[in-house]
Amino acid sequence: MKVVFLGPPGAGKGTQAAIISKAAGIPTISTGMILRDAMAQGTVLGKEAEGYVKKGELVPDDVIIGIVKERLIQPDCEKGYILDGFPRTVAQAQALDDMLPDALDTAFSFEVADSEIMARLTGRRECGACGAIYHIKNGPSAKGSACEKCDGELIQRADDKEETIRNRMDVYHRQTEPIKDYYKQRGKLVCVDASGEPERLAKELLKRLGL
Ligand code: ADP
Ligand code: ZN
Repeated sequence: MKVVFLGPPGAGKGTQAAIISKAAGIPTISTGMILRDAMAQGTVLGKEAEGYVKKGELVPDDVIIGIVKERLIQPDCEKGYILDGFPRTVAQAQALDDMLPDALDTAFSFEVADSEIMARLTGRRECGACGAIYHIKNGPSAKGSACEKCDGELIQRADDKEETIRNRMDVYHRQTEPIKDYYKQRGKLVCVDASGEPERLAKELLKRLGL
């Protein structure tokens, strides 16, 4: 099973990907997470990406495409995977089609209004150790500022500041949304309602994927 999760920042792609990954026994490949790890470790990639990510801009296509290419040939990808946050430009979508021996199954587009996104992202907290996602109002950790799963510290992402969020939403509408047409033309696009509670969408996705 090879699926893509498309959608604006804060649409809940990471939350749903964790649920589907577990149910299907396939990994989630999150380019945002790969970049944040590289930034935390101060690698060459991390240093290159940092300026873009902090401003809410896209990291150049060739850099991202190289990362994904390398990741998809790892043995754990044999049974399939969920791509979260990639592709983010039409050029990335084309590069993905070129690297796959057989086609993607589905590109799910997470639909949610811009007004809801702002509220979600300003309250979002992420575990610095395992990547688990919480929300100060809608889904706080039972352990306060520590992760329920691994006791790691919960942090606000550097790019979850209001001004950067606006820029990321703008970048999404301009550069990423055109991908919907790309997948629509190829009969791969399924739009899902990503507003409201994550449990409802999780049920829908599990059903659509036959899990
Ligand atoms: P979100 O979807 O919540 O904005 P991500 O974790 O997917 O967050 O991405 C965070 C940042 O990492 C993006 O704003 C961008 O700078 C960079 N990034 C992630 N994936 C890509 C990609 N496929 N192409 C270019 N930049 C990317
Ligand atoms: Zn954790």
